[in-house]
Amino acid sequence: MTKISSKGFVMASFPYRDRDRMLHILTPEYGLISASARGACSVKSKLRPLSNLFSLCNYEFFYQKERFYVDDGDVIEAFVGLSESIEHLTAASHAAEVFRDLTRNSPPDSRYFDLWAYTVYEISQSEHPVLISRLSTLRLLAEAGYAPQLDSCCICQRPIKGKADFSFRTSGILCGRRDCSGNTSEDSIRLSEGTLALLRHILTANLNRLYRFTVTEDVVENASQFLDLYLCEKMEKNYKKLDLLENPFDIDLSGLKRNCD
Ligand SMILES: [Zn+2]
Repeated sequence: MTKISSKGFVMASFPYRDRDRMLHILTPEYGLISASARGACSVKSKLRPLSNLFSLCNYEFFYQKERFYVDDGDVIEAFVGLSESIEHLTAASHAAEVFRDLTRNSPPDSRYFDLWAYTVYEISQSEHPVLISRLSTLRLLAEAGYAPQLDSCCICQRPIKGKADFSFRTSGILCGRRDCSGNTSEDSIRLSEGTLALLRHILTANLNRLYRFTVTEDVVENASQFLDLYLCEKMEKNYKKLDLLENPFDIDLSGLKRNCD
């Protein structure tokens, strides 16, 4: 049995056995780990506040037979602002699902932890939490090696200014020359100049400047459409949580509960 100390974000929290909870915790050094918190559903348990979804905590783990067990810890930040609106909670839940999917089978890398830290903070504070959530998934994919080519034509490599068609098949923008754009079809989307500027910023900005920008409603709409399609294409999965905001009465809300009962 080994004792391990690490800070971590709770990315998922499920009831497990009788009064336990199973946590998925994103850590800087160990990546995404599964850890059980024994008795954490009990009102008196000291592990209960360490098991709340999205909380950032200092953890003390036991590590035994390739399993993590939460032994103790303290809450650094609970991000209570996320609970104040369904929009903020849904935005955080969407991004968390993507971060979990991508980091589950990735080598530990503190860049994922840092990106999530800036993202969850920004979602909790922002007036545009859903846009922040969507943009975070692009930067996450880029950090994992799946950045789209947005500076130059992905066929002829000529720099492109202004609007451009993005081809999902070639994962980059195309210039207007016939040789390059001749094969654009259903698999492409027109990106405005403002959208391209926003996406380029997200791919290259330092994390402390990542969510510092202003955008028009047109850009939000165009970028959101692209970001959802790009995420689906790269992760080979349809993410459904943001649908909740379009059809709030059609979807089971139980997956969004933050605290255990
Ligand atoms: Zn070209």
